[in-house]
Amino acid sequence: MIDFRLGDEYEALRKTVRDFAQSEVAPVIGEYYEREEFPYDLVATMGRMGLFGLPFPEEHGGMGGDYFALCLALEELARVDSSVAITLEAGVSLGAMPIHRFGSEEQKREWLPALCTGEALGAFGLTEPGGGSDAGATRTTARLDGGQWVINGSKAFITNSGTDITRLVTVTAVTGQQPDGRKEISTIIVPSGTPGFTVAPKYSKVGWNASDTHELAFDDCRVPEANLLGERGRGYAQFLSILDEGRIAIAALSVGLAQGCVDECVRYVGEREAFGQKIGTYQAIQFKIADMESRAHTARLAYYQAAAKMLRGEPFKKEAAIAKLVSSNAAMDNAREATQIFGGYGFMNEFPVGRFYRDAKILEIGEGTSEVQRMLIARELGLP
Ligand SMILES: Cc1cc2nc3c(=O)[nH]c(=O)nc-3n(C[C@H](O)[C@H](O)[C@H](O)COP(=O)(O)OP(=O)(O)OC[C@H]3O[C@@H](n4cnc5c(N)ncnc54)[C@H](O)[C@@H]3O)c2cc1C
Repeated sequence: MIDFRLGDEYEALRKTVRDFAQSEVAPVIGEYYEREEFPYDLVATMGRMGLFGLPFPEEHGGMGGDYFALCLALEELARVDSSVAITLEAGVSLGAMPIHRFGSEEQKREWLPALCTGEALGAFGLTEPGGGSDAGATRTTARLDGGQWVINGSKAFITNSGTDITRLVTVTAVTGQQPDGRKEISTIIVPSGTPGFTVAPKYSKVGWNASDTHELAFDDCRVPEANLLGERGRGYAQFLSILDEGRIAIAALSVGLAQGCVDECVRYVGEREAFGQKIGTYQAIQFKIADMESRAHTARLAYYQAAAKMLRGEPFKKEAAIAKLVSSNAAMDNAREATQIFGGYGFMNEFPVGRFYRDAKILEIGEGTSEVQRMLIARELGLP
């Protein structure tokens, strides 16, 4: 059966988030962005709307929805602004999801209710200063000593890790050696404020300027043995599965940015004049916008299909990688074309397309670069 229509609940959610993005995010986000300030009030509203709890069960404080609902929300937010969208994406799919998927009942009860309401944020510490694509090469270590994990190492570029409401970061660390000689990697929950855990000042970034990103250092940082998330030695498999899902979420966010570029251009070319005519009457401009719409449309189909396979419980690794690859390309291409259509104003921060341009590039890098997506697709095709 093929049916690409959204059900009533999905459609209602999409509309609610669209209204919020247009009426509450759009008017203020440009100033947050310029001040490089985290938008606590918008995050609090998103929390009250239930967005941080979308794919989690009600018994742990969630909304009882699914991952596709989260994707729809991300698309609609990113259509207006990506900093707000990535704050939600990282909070849900990287911060809370590992606890939901792999945590003990006790860990879920301790952490999920506040993460689901957006009162607290969790972060996911996988990437290290020495490399992110080869995440199995983790250098951070954790050893057991007197019933505690002693963590040493550092993590780079960690989203949501240093806000006033950040409560925890889940960290991947080498906890030993497997029988075949490979590193044994495990995931450990480190609450914010634990002695020995330092959050560096925020990075100065090219884009996503209203989102929170820091380098983290662990220097003989001690947490209880019970903070191990899931089974010891399963850390590598855990983050691979978290990233597979996360790719669909980043694809949705990318589609939102790509569509936002179309929205802005359709409006602008009906107003701007050159050589005595609206620039929207020139076929060269119309073709650019037609191509932009086509890219957003096809990328959306790719993430819908990957999400549908995931929700049916079927393997979706290849489809998620394809969706992330094509939608981040679409976002980048559309942002470049939108900036061109806006001319000099496209280069001004006061217009959303300038923000889109700065925010698009990271989509080809974060949660697996485009090269990594191609590696995954090639591997799924059985290439050596
Ligand atoms: C703003 C921001 C937020 C982020 N948030 C988080 C977060 O919350 N948590 C987290 O853990 N990480 C986060 N990251 C890290 C992000 O996931 C990594 O930057 C990304 O995975 C790439 O890793 P790297 O930067 O170390 O690049 P590298 O791995 O050093 O790669 C450098 C280049 O080499 C290419 N390359 C590497 N290996 C191969 C190969 N085998 N074949 C061909 N090309 C190859 C890459 O594609 C890339 O072009 C964030 C990054 C940014 C910038």
